[in-house]
Amino acid sequence: MPMMFSSSYIELSQSALRSNVRFLRKHIGKKAEFCSVVKGNAYGHGIKHFVPMAEQCGVRQFAVFSAIEALSVLEHRTADSRIVIMGALANDELEWAIENEIAFYVFDLERLRGAQAAAKRVGKPALVHLELETGLHRTGLEIPQLEDAAAVLRANPALVQADGVCTHLAGAESVSNYLRIRNQIQSFQEQCVWLERQGIRPRTRHIACSAAAFAFPDTIMDMVRFGIAHYGYWPTKETQMQYYLEQDIEPNHRPDPLKRVITWKSRVMTIKEVKPGEFVGYGTSYQTSRKQILAAVPVGYFHGFARNLSNLGHVLIHGSRAQVAGLVNMNMMMVDVTDVAGVKKGDEVVIIGKQNKRQISVSSFSDLTRFLNYEVLVRIPSEIPRIVVE
Ligand SMILES: *Cc1c(COP(=O)(O)O)cnc(C)c1O
Repeated sequence: MPMMFSSSYIELSQSALRSNVRFLRKHIGKKAEFCSVVKGNAYGHGIKHFVPMAEQCGVRQFAVFSAIEALSVLEHRTADSRIVIMGALANDELEWAIENEIAFYVFDLERLRGAQAAAKRVGKPALVHLELETGLHRTGLEIPQLEDAAAVLRANPALVQADGVCTHLAGAESVSNYLRIRNQIQSFQEQCVWLERQGIRPRTRHIACSAAAFAFPDTIMDMVRFGIAHYGYWPTKETQMQYYLEQDIEPNHRPDPLKRVITWKSRVMTIKEVKPGEFVGYGTSYQTSRKQILAAVPVGYFHGFARNLSNLGHVLIHGSRAQVAGLVNMNMMMVDVTDVAGVKKGDEVVIIGKQNKRQISVSSFSDLTRFLNYEVLVRIPSEIPRIVVE
């Protein structure tokens, strides 16, 4: 009974994920490996539930930001899936990573030498992904450091293995970055050729995220790091439109090939009838214009429902939109159900997702709050119970 201790819960759709993975696999072809990016608690979906779901779809490669997330994947994987840490890993976590065959990005020489020393102590090779600087200017080995890096790899093949060579693109989801991205791709290719001449042949070369896999197909290479797309969202409207145009699809006549995995639900706490001209909730931001029926929904900004959706956001009840009436409180909000017939206590409320024919998408949320899709998702607290449904 998911509702017993919680005012709302999240359903994760196995069939939606299966359909997304199938669609994305078809797009990248058989030669490229599918990497599921599960940083940010699997974009708010929950690593614990999401990793086994992805494994059910045949995914065997996961990418996380930090060691603590890698630990969570390690604990919840159900197959011998590979894990790569793309970001934060402390020096004293290196041995742990190597011991557990967790690969990690290397973006400075200190990390590479640390990995070599730790591998020696553990007695197992460190699996490293050389992250190259190509123009993002965030993390990445600078070209002058490559010579030293290649020397370390050549000198210690039993201790340090090049599991990958990679880089990250500076905003493939927007055409406005086109030139910068093209330069990055070219720089990456040149550096790969140079490394190969130095005798460094990584198992994988990978640079594509969701947007790049669609906007720059030559970035697909040996592996694609899919985040937002496999959860069922286009990185931006622009990427989506670009896809539809290329496929010569009239957007209105084709269902979206990406299916949302998450549905966030709650129930009506209570119903209240309010006379015309009364203020509702704290302060004076909402005044009834007629005799209105309001439903209390036990979801507030504590649960990640942004306070700036006050008087603005919607939920679905009986398949109709009900607008937030007044301020979003810490633990609840009132919604106007005057025009929705027969609403009663205990009725299902959909906060994100589908109900009958209507849908509240994460992007309608983000349009209203000016948060990114990504941001709306990761704000959903990890404490809300998740259940996997078909
Ligand atoms: C988050 C992330 C991804 C996935 O990006 P999406 O846009 O969600 O597909 C890929 N690579 C790196 C390095 C990332 O940090």
